Amino acid sequence: MGLVFSIEEFAIYDGAGIRTCVFLSGCPLSCSWCHNPEGQPAGNFIVKSPNGCLHCGACELLRDENGYTEAGIRACPKGLLRYNAAEYSPSELAAKLEKNLPLINPSGGGITFSGGEPLTQHEFLFETLRLLQGKTDLRVETSGYAPDGVFRALLPLVNGLFFDIKLTDPVLHRRYTGVDNTPILRNFETLALSGVPFTARTPLIPGVTDTEENLSSIADLLASRDVKEIELMNYNRMAGAKYALCGRVFQPDYDDSVPCNARTEIFAAKGICSRVLR
Ligand code: SF4
Repeated sequence: MGLVFSIEEFAIYDGAGIRTCVFLSGCPLSCSWCHNPEGQPAGNFIVKSPNGCLHCGACELLRDENGYTEAGIRACPKGLLRYNAAEYSPSELAAKLEKNLPLINPSGGGITFSGGEPLTQHEFLFETLRLLQGKTDLRVETSGYAPDGVFRALLPLVNGLFFDIKLTDPVLHRRYTGVDNTPILRNFETLALSGVPFTARTPLIPGVTDTEENLSSIADLLASRDVKEIELMNYNRMAGAKYALCGRVFQPDYDDSVPCNARTEIFAAKGICSRVLR
């Protein structure tokens, strides 16, 4: 069984055409700019929508040491509490996703798996991909943080990947994401040599990933593997919006009041086409 915290139908990003985007729970990284914080924990938990709360306190009274409880879900007069994720078997998820394919496929679209980090639930992901293979265009959006063998096993199951390269400096990567970037850079090499189509992506975080040093280093890395395109994801000013849902406080470890800088000229100088998105 797998945990899915969101399914977005008729999305027009994360791949060509009209797509269904499936967000799998769990991520080994802990970027403070994450705009899907509800996707970071690997397990399921109860969330509370802050909108429309009567502040009656019923849910708080029924909290235990792990947070909100099922009794709290039943007690809320506004129905604001719910489990964050839904549980599916691979066949249940594949059957659900197949229903929209008659509308999606004529548009040249498909299904994109994201997260969280979808490879956190790699067995569930792989089985779902196997069930959908040959039926539509299948893409996975990944941080690249996965054991070699897991990453290699993903490649024959997809039509393409979105591969995040956030920071090339290992010290800064660990500081801002909580993990070593060695597996990511190794998996990037594997991907670049594999022949599987992919789109490199970098989120532009002010003063963190958008520095001249970092973007120049990413441009060098792409040029070394003859990668001709990158998508630069504009800083999401709504990044903090969902933290209250999870009972967390948005605490960016950078100055999010300054604009981010795409520095597209750095990529152009290396013959790399950069697109700034969202
Ligand atoms: S039970 Fe519902 S309405 Fe009452 S405080 Fe909790 S979330 Fe708000």
